[in-house]
Amino acid sequence: MSSEVLSAYASIQRRIQAAALAVGRPADAVALVAVSKLQPWDHIAPVLDAGQRVFGENRVQEALGRWSERRSEVELRLIGPLQSNKARDAVAFFDVIESLDREKLAHVLADEIQALGRAPRLLVQVNTGLEPQKAGVVPGEADGFIALCRGLDLPVEGLMCIPPAEGDPAPHFRLLAKIAARNGLARLSMGMSDDFEIAIACGATSVRVGSALFGSRA
Ligand SMILES: *Cc1c(COP(=O)(O)O)cnc(C)c1O
Repeated sequence: MSSEVLSAYASIQRRIQAAALAVGRPADAVALVAVSKLQPWDHIAPVLDAGQRVFGENRVQEALGRWSERRSEVELRLIGPLQSNKARDAVAFFDVIESLDREKLAHVLADEIQALGRAPRLLVQVNTGLEPQKAGVVPGEADGFIALCRGLDLPVEGLMCIPPAEGDPAPHFRLLAKIAARNGLARLSMGMSDDFEIAIACGATSVRVGSALFGSRA
């Protein structure tokens, strides 16, 4: 397994660099967030040993279990929905929370950051496809929500989106980039296993890749 994962890792790194160069961006312009959720440790270990340092998880408890012992070796990003009652654990544990998606959570995070004296960097999740089952602020409310977060002194550094599973993701990525630009936000977390090259062409600064790297999830 380790050689399979390592060749997938090398190939994804090459594809990320090539996609950046193809649109005139530096080869190292895009960070790979290796999405380790639901993956067995023997798929993750070779990638960690090969030097990958940024990992994405979508559940707080699962991340604590997987990474607590190795916390100092890695940068950890929460990419899944965050319940208010897990906000304290998330603020204490993660380097980045990519799923800031509602006003109540903004207030809870502000309180926990204050209480713990520790602040993860934050991305606002935007529901670009207006999908009822998906988290995120709707595009029409993004500017107001970003302003509200700034008013709470939250360290918002960018935006995240998950486009609808069907259809061309590019318009969603372009919309996210446009909202970020007009709000002066530099970071764009967009693109997953099936569409990360398109996201890079649209300006992604990080891509979240799980199954194409580690194999399909349990
Ligand atoms: C699981 C997940 C990913 C990774 O998806 P793959 O298609 O396996 O690359 C990326 N982003 C989020 C928010 C996820 O939940």
